Amino acid sequence: MGETIAALLGIAQDGGVPQAGCIKSCCMTEFGGPTRHRNPVALGLSAEDGSRHLFEASRTLSEQLRIWANADGGPLNRIDSLWITHAHLGHIDGLGQFGCEAWGPKEIPIHASESMIQLIYDSPNLAHLFTNGHLVPTPFKDGKKVQLSPELSITPIRVPHRDELTDTYAFLIKTESARLLFLPDHDSWEETLSLHSQEDPMSWFRSLFVDIALLDATFWSGDELEGHARDIGHPVVEETLDLLGRRGPSDPRVILFHFNHTNPLHDEASGEVAKVRAMGWEIGRQGMHFHL
Ligand SMILES: [Zn+2]
Ligand SMILES: [Zn+2]
Ligand SMILES: [Zn+2]
Repeated sequence: MGETIAALLGIAQDGGVPQAGCIKSCCMTEFGGPTRHRNPVALGLSAEDGSRHLFEASRTLSEQLRIWANADGGPLNRIDSLWITHAHLGHIDGLGQFGCEAWGPKEIPIHASESMIQLIYDSPNLAHLFTNGHLVPTPFKDGKKVQLSPELSITPIRVPHRDELTDTYAFLIKTESARLLFLPDHDSWEETLSLHSQEDPMSWFRSLFVDIALLDATFWSGDELEGHARDIGHPVVEETLDLLGRRGPSDPRVILFHFNHTNPLHDEASGEVAKVRAMGWEIGRQGMHFHL
């Protein structure tokens, strides 16, 4: 028997880094090549019983499986369940790799909301994943715990986010000793906190008994994307830090991730990274892992 390990397999927003079409310094060097490679967000969870559970299906799946195996020493070719938060690009653009043109595994349960499952059925390029038995539709319900093993459960938690295709969820991953919240995308603290009848992020985390929170940190400020960042949704990191304040002794770990290519938190040498760390919070990096 081992232990449960969660590994961060990607920390970028859906477009990844370098982002297609970007010729600014965030995605280029002065010599023209990309400065950094960051995968869209995903989390690999290996359980005590050896089972492996993947959160999000990114186009960088092949590389993510390698990061995962490096982090926990597990096999490259085993996934026992797949979990999807919502239907935006980087969270589902690797689904096709579960089909017969690529890996083509057999009967991996895909845990997603009814609307996400329906979207796959309704997409002619993806429905074969179900009809050919590569993925098994396993719809979850908001707040309803799914027990993966005696020691490990996942609870989907609804969060407000542009719902043009599907609804959106965070996941609360629970073992006997720790609880990790995976929250890559939501529109605003105001809407999320009001949906869950909470005053501030920290009281919400406390109400869920969270030990580690992986948090949407898409944009540092509303000034990104020539000032359009604020129109897109996602609470900006400046606001999240204001709401969190400095980390207190009984506060959970908060790890920021889902960084847009423009976000200075990609740059290890930036003042913004230093500021987050000085407040006691953490910056998500690929390969980072947590013992739960
Ligand atoms: Zn996203
Ligand atoms: Zn860029
Ligand atoms: Zn999204």
